[in-house]
Amino acid sequence: PIVLGIESSCDETGVGLVRDGRLLGHAVSTSIAEHVRFGGVVPEIAARAHVHAVTPTVRAALESAGLRRGDIGAVAVTTGPGLATALQVGVAAAKGFALALDVPLYGVHHLAGHVAADTLEHGPLPDPSVVLIVSGGHTSLLLVRDLARDPIVHLGDTLDDAAGECFDKVARVFGLPYPGGPAIDRAARDGDPDSVAFPRGLTGPRDDPYAFSFSGLKSAAARWAERVRAQGAELPVADGAAALQEAVADVLTRKAVAACRAHDVRTLVVVGGVAANSRVRSLAAERCAAAGIALRVPPPRLCTDNGAMIAAVGDLLIRAGAAPAPLDVSIDPSAPLEYASLRPTAPAA
Ligand code: ATP
Ligand code: MG
Ligand code: FE
Repeated sequence: PIVLGIESSCDETGVGLVRDGRLLGHAVSTSIAEHVRFGGVVPEIAARAHVHAVTPTVRAALESAGLRRGDIGAVAVTTGPGLATALQVGVAAAKGFALALDVPLYGVHHLAGHVAADTLEHGPLPDPSVVLIVSGGHTSLLLVRDLARDPIVHLGDTLDDAAGECFDKVARVFGLPYPGGPAIDRAARDGDPDSVAFPRGLTGPRDDPYAFSFSGLKSAAARWAERVRAQGAELPVADGAAALQEAVADVLTRKAVAACRAHDVRTLVVVGGVAANSRVRSLAAERCAAAGIALRVPPPRLCTDNGAMIAAVGDLLIRAGAAPAPLDVSIDPSAPLEYASLRPTAPAA
């Protein structure tokens, strides 16, 4: 069937249409502009924006695919994790569509969506794959087997801030606009990554090889900015951005390659909003090539939040024979990533 995917966990209303692992069309509406003056996402504003955007975005996705509502054979929706009020809007809309069209509904874990995004570009994930999820709220190294059936093994997670959070918070200190990640990426183009020696958290010989910590880096960047400004100098933002980006990319790719080596896995998949970062992409490519590891990274538009990735999980669940979610399925704003579907559903007989 053609799967309609709806994503509304944060500030993007994303809708995608997928059939048999292929992306047929998608559309994204974002409320970023409404949050800029607050320097971060305001949940109530995001939720209200989803209410206004969801139906037009479904229409836009259908148009982009040349399809009509009646062509939809299943609905998949993000049930968590994310902002509660924002999730509610997408789930309510998804239930409405499923009921009206009389098609099954699937609840999807947002982070499994980030992982599945890559399959739309590069085909099925090799079993096993090491997956590095780097997003606004999460930073994890995973061992993924069959995404639709098997439990997801966490090799390591961040102990404090996520990589995207680090970019967003430091960008604010540097005087760059929200969201900070893309702003840091742009500013870094004209900077010298060796201009400041920022710390590489948890990379000592006695540290957990797969755990991450970015709060020390965030503080170091803030102290550096404070020191430069206290001397009355103008902050060399490009240099600071390049050095920060280098530190993040270095730690992420070093640990990801080490995880592949230690587990004898030959494919690394890097996903989530921070996978759109140009230095994360180039350093991952360099290090994977040197280690003989195949690297898969989705195109930037599929790295940040979108509905296509949620449709992709729905499509995988259906093809794995998973049971649909009940129409009263609820949201789980802090769902841990254990299975692709929030309710581990046994394959149908
Ligand atoms: P999560 O997926 O953990 O729930 P989220 O959905 O808010 O969080 P994503 O949409 O996956 O996160 O990614 C957004 C994050 O990606 C933000 O922190 C943003 O700054 C960062 N980001 C986006 N593009 C880039 C880039 N080019 N360089 C660095 N960071 C980026
Ligand atoms: Mg977002
Ligand atoms: Fe996300």
